[in-house]
Amino acid sequence: MQEMFCFQCEQTAGGKGCTKTGVCGKTPEVSNEQDKLTCSLIGLARAVEGKQVAPDVDELVMRALFATLTNVNFDKNVIKDLNDRVENLKNTIGDADSPEPDYLFQGDKDAVSLRSTLLFGLRGMAAYACHAHRLGKDDEEVTSWLYKGLRAVGKENTVDEWLNLNMELGQVNLKCMALLDEAHAAEFGNPKPNKVTMNIEKGPFIVITGHDLDDLKQLLEQTEGKGVNVYTHGEMLPAHAYPELNKYKHLKGHYGTAWQNQQKEFINIPAPVVFTTNCLMLPKENYADRIYSSSVVGCPGMNYLSEHNGSIDYSPVIEQAIELGGWEEDRLYSGINGGSELITGFGHNAVMGVADKIIDAIKRGSIKHFFLVGGCDGARPGRSYYTDFVKQTPEDSIVLTLGCGKYRFNDLNLGEVEGIPRILDMGQCNDAYSAIQVAVALAKAFECNVNELPLSLVLSWYEQKAVCILLTLLSLGIKNIYLGPSLPAFLSQNVINVLVEKYDLQPITTPTEDMKALIAG
Ligand code: SF4
Repeated sequence: MQEMFCFQCEQTAGGKGCTKTGVCGKTPEVSNEQDKLTCSLIGLARAVEGKQVAPDVDELVMRALFATLTNVNFDKNVIKDLNDRVENLKNTIGDADSPEPDYLFQGDKDAVSLRSTLLFGLRGMAAYACHAHRLGKDDEEVTSWLYKGLRAVGKENTVDEWLNLNMELGQVNLKCMALLDEAHAAEFGNPKPNKVTMNIEKGPFIVITGHDLDDLKQLLEQTEGKGVNVYTHGEMLPAHAYPELNKYKHLKGHYGTAWQNQQKEFINIPAPVVFTTNCLMLPKENYADRIYSSSVVGCPGMNYLSEHNGSIDYSPVIEQAIELGGWEEDRLYSGINGGSELITGFGHNAVMGVADKIIDAIKRGSIKHFFLVGGCDGARPGRSYYTDFVKQTPEDSIVLTLGCGKYRFNDLNLGEVEGIPRILDMGQCNDAYSAIQVAVALAKAFECNVNELPLSLVLSWYEQKAVCILLTLLSLGIKNIYLGPSLPAFLSQNVINVLVEKYDLQPITTPTEDMKALIAG
């Protein structure tokens, strides 16, 4: 008997859907509670239609959607509490029904597929909106689209209407990523390329992972002068490029690789780990008492840090770091290919700063091709495709990358083309905005459209942030995207056919075959 249904991420059971328990560790109780929460949010969105919404309602909607993302919250009580709050608000604001949870993933295959795509993209965008909101940045169109999108998920639509809604979400998500980009630059300065060590110095330290740069800043402020070093992990690596973050001398380096390796990487380190956002895996016993949540991320038994008006109290983490004492000697670490130094910080500002050099190199034929290889990483063995693909890129090409998919190759030394490193790390997954800005600027310089540039997109997807980014790219008319390691289970065959026909979307095959096809253009 089916105890739950979830097919929102790439590791879904059998490539079809998790029905007994989540491959990620999500229990049926949590999954069913998340479905109820989604339906309550649809009810709330219906209740507020045409009404002025208070900022705390917006914040609740963002957080609640964020809590349903893959690897964010495994705690039934947290999801239930969010659901109670949403239901209470809905009943206070007005009289509106919520659909039954069965409605979400049942019915005509294509309608379920397109409704799910919209819902998962909405969840991804809500996560980005949440990060920007924490930095004091909101955009009326983005916030109101969360409600519009939820109402649309709760309605029957024709295939054309669903497709249009998904493209509209892609456009709004572009604004949302721009908002976050602006918020990061305003708060932490424009990213500048920076070399980051993967080694750890002796003495007490704290590891911080996830995407929330504000949470990192607060940790750096509170650890300053206390003899505790801070190391980033996973999607926090790009923090080292922001002047207002790397000015802290005790932000020493980066530890480990992408999220799916956390159970190996956190198990025996003498230090606490702070999770600011996804991706959280259910912790092993050895380190369960050393993990802390600064936000919506969580699981049963997790240490939740207290927060007051946006200020997080890190004292329990700092105390534990001092008590554990860190390593007795400096430790040497490396990435999956053996490199021990990473370069990050090639956001749109940094790349535009050398645009003339890049354009000259293209004109003279020193740079012949750009590859955008990035997205989110995952556990599937087939993801070695991305390492092999990058290793095969020709010497006269540049690899732009972003998201945690880069850990498959970002410790490789591919050398330079005319002083420009061949791997340019543009930042977190939301920094797909930077890649779009660069592509648009190059297209302008060469008086062509983005699809005519010698630029190939080879993307890896895992969870719902990747879904909203993919919708953004499609909504911009970008074609011929290679997507892997497998196509989303929630895309029906008819929807895949439309995406192939309209956008030339390609499932990845082998690095050699794909490289041949892409170079041949
Ligand atoms: Fe399964 Fe992914 Fe859903 Fe977890 S998030 S239950 S692994 S589909």
